[in-house]
Amino acid sequence: MANNEDLFKKIISHSKEYGFVFQSSEIYDGLAAVYDYGQYGVELKNNIKDHWWKAMVQYNENIVGVDSAIFMHPTIWKASGHVDAFNDPMIDNKDSKKRYRADVLIEDHIAKIEGKIQKEVTKAKKRFGETFDEAQFLSTNPRVLANKKKIEGIKNRLYPAMDNNDLEDIKLLIEELGVVCPFSGSKNWTDVRQFNLMFSTQMGSLSDDSDQIYLRPETAQGIFVNYLNIQKTGRMKIPFGIAQIGKAFRNEIVARQFIFRMREFEQMEMQFFVRPGEEMKWYEYWKEQRIKWHLSLGIPESKYRFHEHDKLAHYANAAADIEFEFPIGFKEIEGIHSRTDFDLEAHQKYTGRKIQYFDPEINKSYVPYVVETSLGLDRTFLAIISYAYTEERLEDGSERVVMKILPALAPIKAAVLPLVKKDGLPEKAREIMDFLKFDYLCQYDEKDAIGRRYRRQDAIGTPYCITIDHQTLEDNTVTIRERDSMGQERIAIENISGIISKKLRSVK
Ligand code: ATP
Repeated sequence: MANNEDLFKKIISHSKEYGFVFQSSEIYDGLAAVYDYGQYGVELKNNIKDHWWKAMVQYNENIVGVDSAIFMHPTIWKASGHVDAFNDPMIDNKDSKKRYRADVLIEDHIAKIEGKIQKEVTKAKKRFGETFDEAQFLSTNPRVLANKKKIEGIKNRLYPAMDNNDLEDIKLLIEELGVVCPFSGSKNWTDVRQFNLMFSTQMGSLSDDSDQIYLRPETAQGIFVNYLNIQKTGRMKIPFGIAQIGKAFRNEIVARQFIFRMREFEQMEMQFFVRPGEEMKWYEYWKEQRIKWHLSLGIPESKYRFHEHDKLAHYANAAADIEFEFPIGFKEIEGIHSRTDFDLEAHQKYTGRKIQYFDPEINKSYVPYVVETSLGLDRTFLAIISYAYTEERLEDGSERVVMKILPALAPIKAAVLPLVKKDGLPEKAREIMDFLKFDYLCQYDEKDAIGRRYRRQDAIGTPYCITIDHQTLEDNTVTIRERDSMGQERIAIENISGIISKKLRSVK
């Protein structure tokens, strides 16, 4: 575990050092859980968006896009259930003035007890050596059994209390367990209150409640409220989908995991409208399509797993998460939900407008059912850079950090490097740069020794380096170096573009 925490820290500092991700407002000491993407980060992010958009909109004739506004009519969030139910239970420590998610405090307490069990195991392993039988130890050791029972008891209280919104019992549980504030060490807690995760602001000049609007907490509702517009103007036939990439905002209480949990983030969502009764078929279909997409990022299958939900949200009749093994463990990266007709029905009710589809094949009108795929762009970014980050020791004993990002997604596709800053090599390199830049984002670099320039490109994941040397002036050839193998090949200048494009395609 400690190693993975180290890895996570290294990835965060590498992201900063090489212009991928910065803390927002850093020169003002930062704004918690908000991040800016730097010069390479924005390129990687755009490439991910493009890859997703193509897979959803371009390759599927029955999926179209939309770009809806962040500000929406406030009643939409009443209809969607967000005003009443998009809450986390929170508790404040009166001494430190720190705020916590009450359920997370209890989960952390459980994790501590689990830690004790783990300690017992480690101790026993040492004591018994080769003959140690872990399964038997876990099922018979009295201290382990007592701790397991404690955990079970806590879960049996916490989960029903969460389900029944029993805030008093959650507080009582925190007191009974003697949970202390990690900052002040005190047990001086406020009551548990529900905390709505939506950010609100005022529209117009008045500041009374009637003007209160929200920053959208998900992009999905912008799709639902445009369902009729798009179905009609696009003459869409069920089954069809609407895709959207855009910002979402949540006032997360626990937000201390870099870009995994942010207060302002981006989602890539697609709502697929289907005939009622056919939703399970499409739910299975989209689960399969979406995991295929993740694997197309060049990340192996072992890094992903599905987690089917037992406990369903109020709008769903089936739900699964695709989880990715981040350095902080397996965590949700995408949700696939069968949302029934919950949202369209609600908008029908609140607007008094008919939101129905006449299905000529069965000669019937109905409110379509929806299967949604909801992916976090920032979490996808984090997955890609976490997998790509590689430290290598080279044959000559030196070390390099290389970002093994799928070439098609890499921020910079090729670096153009004159071997020395004289003898006409920079001029020749500029000529190459001037035609390559119309096809790919390239970078020209003539500063420092060639080895250092290669390292800089490795650190940002540039798949190809083109080096111009004295031979180039004689026979119009250059060397092209591949990032991962560091293999070099001599090729004709006129072939550079074709070779790069073939290599980018072959890995897609
Ligand atoms: P979690 O349980 O981790 O809070 P969620 O179940 O609330 O996530 P959804 O509402 O299903 O998430 O949102 C869909 C996707 O949006 C998630 O799978 C995740 O990738 C992304 N996402 C949600 N909240 C955040 C956040 N605060 N920061 C970054 N990405 C997020």
